[in-house]
Amino acid sequence: MRIDVISIFPEIFDSIKSYGITAKALNKSLWMLNIWNPRLFAKYPNYRVDDRPYGGGPGMVMLAEPLEKTIEAIKKDRLCYEKKIDIPIIYLTPAGKTFNNTIANDLSTKDGLIIICGRYEGIDQRLIDKYVNLELSIGDFILSGGEIAAIAIIDSIIRFLPGVLNDKESALQDSFGAKISGLLDTPHYTRPRIYNGINVPDILLNGNHKDISQWRKMQSIKITKKRRPDLLLKK
Ligand code: SAM
Repeated sequence: MRIDVISIFPEIFDSIKSYGITAKALNKSLWMLNIWNPRLFAKYPNYRVDDRPYGGGPGMVMLAEPLEKTIEAIKKDRLCYEKKIDIPIIYLTPAGKTFNNTIANDLSTKDGLIIICGRYEGIDQRLIDKYVNLELSIGDFILSGGEIAAIAIIDSIIRFLPGVLNDKESALQDSFGAKISGLLDTPHYTRPRIYNGINVPDILLNGNHKDISQWRKMQSIKITKKRRPDLLLKK
């Protein structure tokens, strides 16, 4: 999968390229990441990417033109490698559909993604109307820019790509996964057996996999009932 991100702060993406599972998968060429800075497509001599909002009010708005030129450059670049371009163009915004595991899984099956990170008050609506086919939010709070939202979304999508996780069952066993019927994950324990005077639950030590699996299922239901009863109602 090839992901193209549009951001005026490309360095923020160094983390996802350099650490953990996403970095390992990148090194194995299981996915590709290109960051495009719209400032490079802005007009000489100021290279402005923002301007004041029509109608007044606080803050600035990202200009449509540098973003349009960036999107067109990405499309042209992709066409050098691919016959047809059918990839979602995503704008990250608090007004978007709330991102979740189902959307992550679905997006992981696409040939690629173009993700636009907003800054300031957001981007000119005319750019959204012309190009964007999916608006996503990562929750009911305001970030200063779309970069952190993009990193969160990309990380969760990459986990679904074949070959990324060592144990391919792992993604399905995490919270919201198919293996645990979309519920929350069970508690986990590791060594030592007694920590600060507290024992690991006996059942995890008896080696009976059927009992352990049953216990984990019950824990998962218990914690979901307590913290996210909405997930049980969905079923
Ligand atoms: N004026 C916008 C509003 O009230 O909806 C907020 C703009 S925010 C300061 C700047 C940028 O951060 C947005 O254009 C968007 O790309 C990103 N952003 C902020 N919160 C977000 C969220 N919860 N989910 C996804 N992106 C977000």
